[in-house]
Amino acid sequence: MPSRDPVGFLGSEYKGLVEAELDWKLRVLQGPSTTRCVVDGKQVLMLCSNNYLSLSNHPKLKAAAIDAVKTHGAGSGSVRPIAGNMDLHMELERRLARFKDAEASLVYQTGFAANSGLIPQLADEGDLIVSDELNHGSIIDGVRLSKADRAVYKHCDVADLEKVMADAEKHIPAYRRILVISDGVFSMDGDIAPLDSIAKIARAHGAMVYVDDAHGEGVLGEGGRGIVSHFRLGRNDVHVEMGTFSKAFGVVGGHISGSRDLVNYAYNKSRTWLLSGSHPPAVVAACIAAVDVLETEPQHVRSLWANTDYFRKGIQSLGFDTGKSQTPIVPVMIGESGAAKRFSSLLFEMNMFALPIVFPMVARDKARIRTIMNAALTRADLDEALGAFEKIGKKLGLV
Ligand SMILES: *Cc1c(COP(=O)(O)O)cnc(C)c1O
Repeated sequence: MPSRDPVGFLGSEYKGLVEAELDWKLRVLQGPSTTRCVVDGKQVLMLCSNNYLSLSNHPKLKAAAIDAVKTHGAGSGSVRPIAGNMDLHMELERRLARFKDAEASLVYQTGFAANSGLIPQLADEGDLIVSDELNHGSIIDGVRLSKADRAVYKHCDVADLEKVMADAEKHIPAYRRILVISDGVFSMDGDIAPLDSIAKIARAHGAMVYVDDAHGEGVLGEGGRGIVSHFRLGRNDVHVEMGTFSKAFGVVGGHISGSRDLVNYAYNKSRTWLLSGSHPPAVVAACIAAVDVLETEPQHVRSLWANTDYFRKGIQSLGFDTGKSQTPIVPVMIGESGAAKRFSSLLFEMNMFALPIVFPMVARDKARIRTIMNAALTRADLDEALGAFEKIGKKLGLV
C-alpha cells in the first residue's frame, strides 16, 4: 500500500495561499451592479466593474429578460445542436452580426468557452499559434488544448512579432497554417493592441488573425463596435473577432464574428458549444436588448469616454502614474503589493470600491489599484473619487 494522502494537498495548498496573502477574499454585492451599490453591507462607489455602460441594470434589458421568461420559460432544455436552439438564439446571432458588420456571428455560453472551444479547432498538428505574452488565460487554455506549435511574442511588440513570423517561415516542414492571436484591450494596463500592424504582418505571411475584444466592445470604435471598427479594419484583415456579453453588454455569454464559413465551421467543430447547454431565454433576450441599446443610445459610450478622460487627467494631475492606459481601464500605479492592498482598504473605508492588482497578476513592483470607468458615473462621483485618491496618496506618501 503506498502511503499516499489522496486529498492532503487541498488543505496545504490553500494554507500556503492564505499565508502568502494570495487567496481571493470574496466581496458580496447586495443588489444590482450600479455605480452606487452595496458591497459587504456598505454603500460604496463602484470603481472596478466591467459593466462599462451600466447596461446590466438598464430597464430595457431587465424588461426583455422578464418577458422572455414569460414567453420561453426559464431554461432552453438542451444543447443548441439537439433541441435547445430557440428562435431567440438565432435572433441574437443575426442582430450581433449586423452590429459587428460581419457575415455571421455565433454565441457561446461564455467568452471563456469561445476561446477554449474554438482556438484548438483553428490550429492543429503541423500548424503554429503565435500569441502575445500577456494574452488572457482563456486564450492560454485554448492554445494548450491545441496540438499546434506555439510561439509567444513580447507584449504588443510589432518588431518581435515580425521576428517570430520570420523564424516561423524557416520551420521544416513548412507550417500548414499560422494563427496570430491577441487581446484587443489588455485588462491589466488598459492598453490597445496594435491590431493594424498585427494584421499587416499576418497578411504578409498568409496568417489568420484572431482578436479577443472582451474589453474593447461597447468601448472602442463607432458606437462601441469594438477594436476592428476602431482601426477601420475589414474582414480580410481580422478573421475572427471574439467577444463577450459579460462586460460592456452587461449580461453573460461569449461570441465570435466573421465569415459565414467561420461560423458554419465553428457550429460543427467547437466542442464547448456543441456539448454544453444553451443560454436560458432571459439571458439571450437581455443580450438582444443590449445590442439594441448600443445601436439606439449612443450617449452611453460617449459618456464613458468623457468620464475616462476626466478621471485619467485628474489622477495624473494628482501626480499618480496611470501606466499605458488608453481606455476606460485606468490603473493607478502604487508599487509594492502591501501598499496597494492598504490603499484599497483605505478606499473602502472612504466608500470607494476598487481592488488592488498585485503579484503574480502583475510584476512585484507594479502593484496597482485598477479602476474601471463607467458611463453612469457623475462628475460629483468622479470628484469624490479623485478626492479620496488624493487624500490616501498623501497619507501613504505616494504623491
Ligand atoms: C473577461 C474576458 C474573457 C472571458 O469572458 P467571459 O465571457 O467572462 O467568460 C475572455 N477574454 C478576455 C480578454 C477577457 O477579459
